[in-house]
Amino acid sequence: MPTLFSKIISREIPAQIVCEDEHLLAFKDINPQAPVHVLFIPKEEIASADALEDRHAELVGRLVLAAGRYAREAGIAEDGYRLVMNTNEHGGQTVFHLHLHLIGGRPMSWPPG
Ligand code: AMP
Repeated sequence: MPTLFSKIISREIPAQIVCEDEHLLAFKDINPQAPVHVLFIPKEEIASADALEDRHAELVGRLVLAAGRYAREAGIAEDGYRLVMNTNEHGGQTVFHLHLHLIGGRPMSWPPG
């Protein structure tokens, strides 16, 4: 089912896009939880990590690699960062278009609440 992230892909909704290729799009989170907070999404509509199939293996790799590249470019890679895929209700997912959060630029605690 299309979500607002599909409308960001189609440019119906504005976003601060930081990178794009034929497979994926990345944009700044509208409610950042850290100095760097970017969402990496596939252009294909996939509801959540729970909906991934074997054929998506390369796509998931592309999301992780793009996030790592952005982290290095943003200068936060050496200090470290967090990659998160909130999944379904208990995972705290609110937008049901798969997305990888890149969060960094400050120290973070563990475990999550
Ligand atoms: P999640 O809770 O993992 O589903 O994360 C959804 C994320 O999307 C949240 O961090 C929101 O702040 C973010 N978000 C919602 N709407 C927008 C938007 N229009 N542009 C950018 N980020 C958004």
